[in-house]
Amino acid sequence: MISIAIDGPAGAGKSTIAKKVAGTLGYTYIDTGAIYRTMAYYFISRGMDVDNEVSVSSLCGRIKVGIKYIDGAQHVFLGEIDVSDRIRTSEVGAGASKISAYPAVRASLLGLQRDMAANDNVVMDGRDIGSVVLPNATVKIYLTASVEERARRRYAEYTAAGQECDIEKIKQEIEERDHRDMTREISPLVCAPGAEVIDSSDMSIDEVCEAVFKLVKSAS
Ligand code: C5P
Repeated sequence: MISIAIDGPAGAGKSTIAKKVAGTLGYTYIDTGAIYRTMAYYFISRGMDVDNEVSVSSLCGRIKVGIKYIDGAQHVFLGEIDVSDRIRTSEVGAGASKISAYPAVRASLLGLQRDMAANDNVVMDGRDIGSVVLPNATVKIYLTASVEERARRRYAEYTAAGQECDIEKIKQEIEERDHRDMTREISPLVCAPGAEVIDSSDMSIDEVCEAVFKLVKSAS
């Protein structure tokens, strides 16, 4: 099986690139951020405190997070409910960043991610794919961009989805999220050993995809 791991900070364009690369190569795209968001949504939608590590940790093993592909697109499920649209808010993103720092949460979601890569050629994006989930991935990429550019991209994404937002606030949230993701004790966001760094600040989507294809070609 071939696996392409794409890690990087919030808004670096991981999902856009991973989706395109997977589409071109005929691989399955796995958005692992959506898995953490689904778990966070469970707690937030029940009015529970995502800062309470003890209660989140005691419940996370019982929460059924699932992934299905419908017309080629990844959908995430909480039990039987498709929550793919509901997880795309900044509140859920911030909640995911908090609960993903808890070891029990990460442990409860590791098997699901590894099983998916065991059965398919995959492009998987996240924060710890090259370092923890798939340390033997065929190609590892660390995709980044300046915080200003990442804030602009998130702003465009939220606005297109009809959500009102403020770009300065988004930038601040991204900085907070990066800090939490990079400094947590377990599985922090790092450039994994053997990963190629791509800074997409001044690159088009096609240029980034080309750079990834080159890496895949030279690895196979
Ligand atoms: O990528 P996305 O913004 O959807 O991820 C939401 C949050 O989930 C991230 O800020 C990060 O804290 C967490 N996450 C993680 N490990 C992954 C994917 C996401 O810790 N593999």
